[in-house]
Amino acid sequence: RSILKAINVQKVFGVKGNVYKALEDINLEIQEGEFVGIMGPSGSGKSTLLNILSTIDTPTSGDIIIDNQNIIKMNEEQLSDFRRNKLGFIFQDYNLLDTLTVKENILLPLALSKVPAKEIEQRVNELADTFGIREILNKYPYHISGGQKQRTAASRAIVANPSLILADEPTGALDSKSATSLLESLSTLNKVKQATIMMVTHDVYAASFCKRVLFIKDGRLVTELHKGQLQRKE
Ligand code: ADP
Ligand code: ADP
Repeated sequence: RSILKAINVQKVFGVKGNVYKALEDINLEIQEGEFVGIMGPSGSGKSTLLNILSTIDTPTSGDIIIDNQNIIKMNEEQLSDFRRNKLGFIFQDYNLLDTLTVKENILLPLALSKVPAKEIEQRVNELADTFGIREILNKYPYHISGGQKQRTAASRAIVANPSLILADEPTGALDSKSATSLLESLSTLNKVKQATIMMVTHDVYAASFCKRVLFIKDGRLVTELHKGQLQRKE
């Protein structure tokens, strides 16, 4: 089942006479259960692409189909519903709310949902086990490590069972041990729960956890590697 399809996406910044093509002829498709990495040099268009897929920026032309809905055709209100119901986000700088506990942060995306309390409890506990954060559920972000913060953010990204999880340099601020722990947990979620994940990263080690890695250069997708071609030695 196709979760994401980008068709002839272009993004042009600037005005007549002084335009910059940040994205050109982007065509890509992601199937349910994939774990896809996006790599490319600084300024190649990764953030622009991720912002467009996140629905917070719009392409100059082209279509984006996520879970059978063309997000280009949606108005602001529809987009905000769509983001809440269909997408999960993980940012480099965690974006946790300091006034809420780890558990409350994880539960934020379910604030407006009708999921029964018992199931919510079950989901949180399951995620806390997957991400190894059961002991810190009642702590505040101020009292936990960067790695723990990012595992909390990842739990929050997935708790509402989104169609697609978009991660922007999730290991960018982590030491290598914390990065490994996060990546292993994301892999587990991908394998066990069929979570569909797209991750922008500078880090080849992080990318080696993906099943497929796309390389972007000067706004164009230029190369694709599959698992097996990019091998990690424990
Ligand atoms: P990356 O995330 O790969 O570093 P970006 O997507 O941030 O690359 O940027 C791609 C190109 O588009 C860069 O040359 C950048 O300067 C340009 N760019 C990004 N956002 C804007 C903007 N709002 N206005 C003008 N140029 C932009
Ligand atoms: P990152 O790649 O770390 O996510 P940003 O997406 O914020 O960083 O910016 C990437 C590049 O795009 C930077 O070089 C920045 O100068 C450029 N850029 C971002 N926004 C604008 C803008 N409004 N006008 C011009 N350039 C921009």
